[in-house]
Amino acid sequence: VNSSSKPDISRAKSAELYEKAKTYFPGGVNSPVRAFKSVYGTPLFISKGDGCTIWDADDNQFIDFCGSWGPLILGHNHPKVREKVVSVMQNGMSFGAPTALENELAELIIKNNSFVEKIRFTSSGTEAVMSAIRLARGFTGRNKIIKFEGCYHGHTDSLLVKAGSGLVTFGETSSAGIPPAFANETLVLPLNDLNALKEAFASFKEDIAAVIIEGIPANNGLLIQDKEYIHALREICTENKALLIFDEVITGFRLGFEGAAAYYDVVPDLVTYGKIIGGGLPVGMFGGKAEIMGMISPDGGVYQGGTLSGNPVAMAAGIAQLTELSKSGFYKDLNKKAEEFCESLQRFASARNYQFKVFNVGSIFWFAFSDNPAIKTAAEIDPASMEKYKVLHRELLNRGIYFGPSGYEVGFVSSAHTKIDLEKAKRAIFDSLDIVF
Ligand code: PLP
Repeated sequence: VNSSSKPDISRAKSAELYEKAKTYFPGGVNSPVRAFKSVYGTPLFISKGDGCTIWDADDNQFIDFCGSWGPLILGHNHPKVREKVVSVMQNGMSFGAPTALENELAELIIKNNSFVEKIRFTSSGTEAVMSAIRLARGFTGRNKIIKFEGCYHGHTDSLLVKAGSGLVTFGETSSAGIPPAFANETLVLPLNDLNALKEAFASFKEDIAAVIIEGIPANNGLLIQDKEYIHALREICTENKALLIFDEVITGFRLGFEGAAAYYDVVPDLVTYGKIIGGGLPVGMFGGKAEIMGMISPDGGVYQGGTLSGNPVAMAAGIAQLTELSKSGFYKDLNKKAEEFCESLQRFASARNYQFKVFNVGSIFWFAFSDNPAIKTAAEIDPASMEKYKVLHRELLNRGIYFGPSGYEVGFVSSAHTKIDLEKAKRAIFDSLDIVF
């Protein structure tokens, strides 16, 4: 894209920081999608966030729909989260020993969840998933894992096979550096395809430890699955004595306390959470039935640990955030606001016959440059459509709206987005769509 209908924002300071960062970090970043490789211009270096607003190093101001890729359901720098973190920090940052704060956050999670009996905290979603997979293997005594094309489960070796997120953003679906012996233990199936699932179980019946699925796949577009498919998946796992793992790192506490499991009305054997439960600090967790979790060391033989697991400062942020979420009507209000926002974007695009669909569940949404109103598999997304996202992304930045720098990633509405913010954003999106089409 060589020209914008509006003057491009100044990126002089971000560009300077990026040049320096490139001397330190591969691609100038500490996580690949941040490098703006598939959108226009230099990555923006963010200097401040407050509510739904962020500022970059050049003092450009944006309404933010990325929300640090999901954790900031209350917006940036929420006073309750900040105050709790600051007060806990007065007593020290880390002890590598149990603290009461771990109990407090665990209680908020378990009390609000009907199928999680025991949990273990980690420091990232990746670790949570990695540990849940090891646990499933230890519990069942089997080796193979089924995952789905387009589902991203963090950067653990055996799950970087046909994953979404950064891999698909850069045109690859699997990572180099994964020994074939590891990848061979991962069976990758298309989503929403019951026959493929049945065939995999028919071929490897005795060796499938677990099926892992993103609650609602949200790392390769937003691929909302049919309830019947998820229920059939549950049944097949039970029949074959394989565990069903719901990776709810995005959907957990985003759609509601019980995440996508409640959305589909299904009970997974293990769940993984991250992002929101840390209130913006590094926290993940895996959990499930006490019988399965009892296999974890030191009670059982599946080893799992972490120096900073259950870190008090991170626990504090999670406690403050989940306390806010547990207030009556929180999800109802947030979801309604987000749904109205998405509906009005769709009405605008449909009235103009733009090839544009807004996929939405709760406060998660995704823009597809497609006529297909029900995209359920990664294969239904045309990579060429990402060129349109590139134009949209640039136009939106020039109008003060920040989205993640990849058309495969979803956007998030937070409780900090006011009606006025959403009106402003809508107008900017309408104008930008008029440029794209
Ligand atoms: N699982 C899902 C569904 C995710 O979306 C992510 C990250 O986006 C992860 C796992 C990995 O989490 P983290 O980036 O905290 O390691």
